[in-house]
Amino acid sequence: MNKKITEFAAAHGLVYDKEGMRGVFNGYQVSTNNFTRALSAACVVGFHVNLGAKSGEALTYLTVTNKKALQISRVMTDGSGIYVVLVPFTLGGTLKKIDALLNAFTQYLASLGIDGSACPYCGQPMEGGGVLVSDGGAFHAHEKCFNEKLAAVTEAENVENSMPNNYLQGTAGAVLGALAGCAVFAILFAVGYLASVSSLVGAILASLLYTKFGGKNNKIKILIVAVVTLVLILLTFLICNVVSLHIALREEGIGGSAWYWLFYAVSADEEVARLFWRDFALTVFFALLGLAFSVVTMIREQKKVSKGMKKMP
Ligand SMILES: [Zn+2]
Repeated sequence: MNKKITEFAAAHGLVYDKEGMRGVFNGYQVSTNNFTRALSAACVVGFHVNLGAKSGEALTYLTVTNKKALQISRVMTDGSGIYVVLVPFTLGGTLKKIDALLNAFTQYLASLGIDGSACPYCGQPMEGGGVLVSDGGAFHAHEKCFNEKLAAVTEAENVENSMPNNYLQGTAGAVLGALAGCAVFAILFAVGYLASVSSLVGAILASLLYTKFGGKNNKIKILIVAVVTLVLILLTFLICNVVSLHIALREEGIGGSAWYWLFYAVSADEEVARLFWRDFALTVFFALLGLAFSVVTMIREQKKVSKGMKKMP
């Protein structure tokens, strides 16, 4: 556990564990994610209140009036409250931002007359304090309300699971995306720039268009996008090399197949081989970089909401 966060939590009367911070601050249930964990690019501060008819005003407060002053990146809402995203550059700076946000927004909620002791889901009083649940953040709520939401979310996920995979449509999208990357590759190659960078573009576009064309976000998507991108980009790499060699050979009046000469030059000339394999490695590297980026995004999106919802001891 991080020492600075432990001190911060204690000073604000919050509990701090591997899920993040949580507790009641100024009469309102608040939480944060464990933003120091690897791969969390955002610090999410949750206010677990039922805003009822006041949700428009509260959103305006966070997204318009005080967005700049509180250095807010994004705001999300769902049935369990309102979530404010901060970008965690440094730990000290982030804790300062959290402190300012907690103070400002809880005071604002009080001025709106929002009841912080009510169940975040339904806004009704909680006899006995409710049960501790985890749903976007950790907070107390009616057990019945939590169970109802979990059932609804699970039902929606089951509906999505039973929908067609659309592998064909998805693959068509991935091919189009990768081909766009190939086109950029060919153009950069022709004008003499570092073409390999475009394989990154191809990988990201392939992933985006796979989904756009109706393909579902699952493990097969990762496989299809990876294979399509790598095959098409490397094919483009080879074709670009052969075509440019073909033009050069014709200019020199040398006959024979450019494929043969490329193969010959790479196997016989050390300098040509070095350049060829360097460009090959760079192209693969950027394609893998784009794929890695896409895979991280895909895996994040594949996480089921219901998996994150649980009752806590
Ligand atoms: Zn409730």
